[in-house]
Amino acid sequence: RPHLRLQIQISLFGDNDRLIVAKDVTRLYQLEQMRRDFVGNVSHEMRTPLTVISGYLETLVDHADELPKKWQRAIHTMADQSSRMEALITDLILLSRIETGEQTADDALTDVEALIQQICSDARALSGDKQHSINVEVTDHRLLRGDESQLRSAFSNLVFNAVKYTPAGGRITVSWSADREGAHLSVKDTGLGIDPIHIPRLTERFYRADPSRHKETGGTGLGLAIVKHVLINHDGSLDIRSEIGKGSEFICHFPKVRLVERQETHEEV
Ligand code: ADP
Repeated sequence: RPHLRLQIQISLFGDNDRLIVAKDVTRLYQLEQMRRDFVGNVSHEMRTPLTVISGYLETLVDHADELPKKWQRAIHTMADQSSRMEALITDLILLSRIETGEQTADDALTDVEALIQQICSDARALSGDKQHSINVEVTDHRLLRGDESQLRSAFSNLVFNAVKYTPAGGRITVSWSADREGAHLSVKDTGLGIDPIHIPRLTERFYRADPSRHKETGGTGLGLAIVKHVLINHDGSLDIRSEIGKGSEFICHFPKVRLVERQETHEEV
């Protein structure tokens, strides 16, 4: 027998009256779990044949100039589309793993400062000819208790999005700070911005503020869903502020109990 899942809502009236409503959401919870397992399994099954197709396509691309002209374009298009599909499957597998929350390495310590330095240096390579100025600002040097690989996925999705949605020459600032409330990782850009009506739905799978935009940028549409679930696994939350034509800021908040002082390690020589 499955565990009973209840959703409880408590409303307060006046000084002493309370209305408590308990709703049985067991079936809903099971369906959600089935959907997650199904997507995870299908993605896994698709990965192997796709790896074979991509492998052969790579060989064909390497020898494309030996083939008739009309085949060359077809082969390049097939190779592009198969790498898009590979990216999509990788993100689907990652999302279904993160969604369960079961494999989160919750005792690990992550050096966020070093992590964002690495991500930003990858982002500079991605920016290429667009020559964004990508800056890191760190005002707190403590470590964050949390799964480094999940945090890397979340932060790199935010930074790479900033690169994708910011025109050439724009500025991107990644900052790590803490105050009385907790720790904050902010990714701010001077890019295209997002209409406020889209903001509440941005972390849904495949939701896009402007579908024509993603054709040029070629993302999987799962980036912000991954960010959302990584934050749930770390008791965090996401704040999105944006203005069309001016830019956007994505802020990940973490509770302060997750901040841990660095221990200086003195190695014996
Ligand atoms: P995608 O792969 O389409 O980028 P995401 O889940 O990462 O998918 O983002 C969802 C949508 O949010 C994007 O399609 C885009 O419309 C919008 N978006 C995300 N980041 C930014 C940003 N920094 N500036 C403007 N729009 C953004």
